[in-house]
Amino acid sequence: MSTPWTLSRRAERMNPSVIREILKLTAQPGIISLAGGLPSPATFPVDAFAQACAEVLATDGPAALQYAASEGHGPLREWVAAQLPWAVDPAQVLITTGSQQALDLVGKVLIDSGSRVLVETPTYLGALQAFAPMEPQIEGVACTDEGPDPDDLVRRGPSARFLYVLPNFQNPTGRSLSEGARQALVQQADRLGLPLVEDNPYGELWFDQPPPAPLSARHPDGCLYLGSFSKVLAPGLRLGYVVAPKAIFPKLLQAKQAADLHTPGFNQRLASAVLRDGFMERHVPRVRALYRQQCRVMLDALGHEMGGLGVQWNAPEGGMFLWLRLPEGMDATALLPQAVARGVAYVPGAAFYADSADPRTLRLSFVTASEDQIRSGIAALAATVREALPRPTAVPVARPQSSGVTA
Ligand code: PMP
Repeated sequence: MSTPWTLSRRAERMNPSVIREILKLTAQPGIISLAGGLPSPATFPVDAFAQACAEVLATDGPAALQYAASEGHGPLREWVAAQLPWAVDPAQVLITTGSQQALDLVGKVLIDSGSRVLVETPTYLGALQAFAPMEPQIEGVACTDEGPDPDDLVRRGPSARFLYVLPNFQNPTGRSLSEGARQALVQQADRLGLPLVEDNPYGELWFDQPPPAPLSARHPDGCLYLGSFSKVLAPGLRLGYVVAPKAIFPKLLQAKQAADLHTPGFNQRLASAVLRDGFMERHVPRVRALYRQQCRVMLDALGHEMGGLGVQWNAPEGGMFLWLRLPEGMDATALLPQAVARGVAYVPGAAFYADSADPRTLRLSFVTASEDQIRSGIAALAATVREALPRPTAVPVARPQSSGVTA
């Protein structure tokens, strides 16, 4: 007899990530993937980690390989606190196993079954996945280029547990909030008594000028702030952090203990050793320069290939992604197999909406593919769109009626 396993309601709410499924598709040889949000491996500081590895094992080996404190490695917490642009006590910094874990912990600590949770429209798919098992009612707040629409926030804000918001080079759209929009959002959230969960993995990846200060810098008690080493050092380390007001920190810590006891102490020491002596000031400008160039190549290719097709896109000022809207009547999910057949993949935008999706949207990453691949990928995408455009239906030409007038 087969064993009757009963899945929890939580498990029923878990879904495979659309992106991971697409990444499997794009693993086929010959497909140019503009889909995944994988940082360029050319930016990984392999030599610095090789040195740090030897040093950590030689000087601190047994401690690095032992169980450790759930809060995180002291020097790394201090480094995080010191580089944030507002006064942060290292005791408020919880090191997490990627900022994805911080999203999971936030969900566990702040969401009850049926709680109302607000997100931007669209928003980061991984946050929707992390929150979903806690059985919230997730609502997408209407957004413009200036961020969450204040009128919609007034309607939805009261009694919501929090607003999850990405002010810098958002995943998926690449958009950023202006100084004015940040000020207005923080003031409005304060008036509404609406906590903010600010996620900022891309803030350091600006092209020409740094973005305005984070929301958390303006109202630390009203915000949880999530950061990550994935996009500036290497995602394989699985190092992120959450900065929490004193009222919330102990609960996040208890959730963290239950989840994994602690983030690998070895990785934390490696990062700490690499980050010493101003490493980031030398390293991050190189990442910015590479991504700025790749973004420019993609924007040039779009301008060149998509002219006259009725496709819209934005020009991000940093980060890894660009957002594109297909012509009226097209559906990016339905179009994906044709694009893959032509050798290019993207992520359909529908995956990033909490509720009703705009089927015309899609996300392109400009950081993983080479410049040549970006050009060929955009050409293949343009050919796919061109082929799918509704052909003008032939209208029978009416016989000219004799009016007696000749022109
Ligand atoms: N937040 C956002 C907005 C992201 O795009 C990602 C990664 N794609 C994460 C959090 C999680 O990153 P990590 O766990 O690698 O820190």
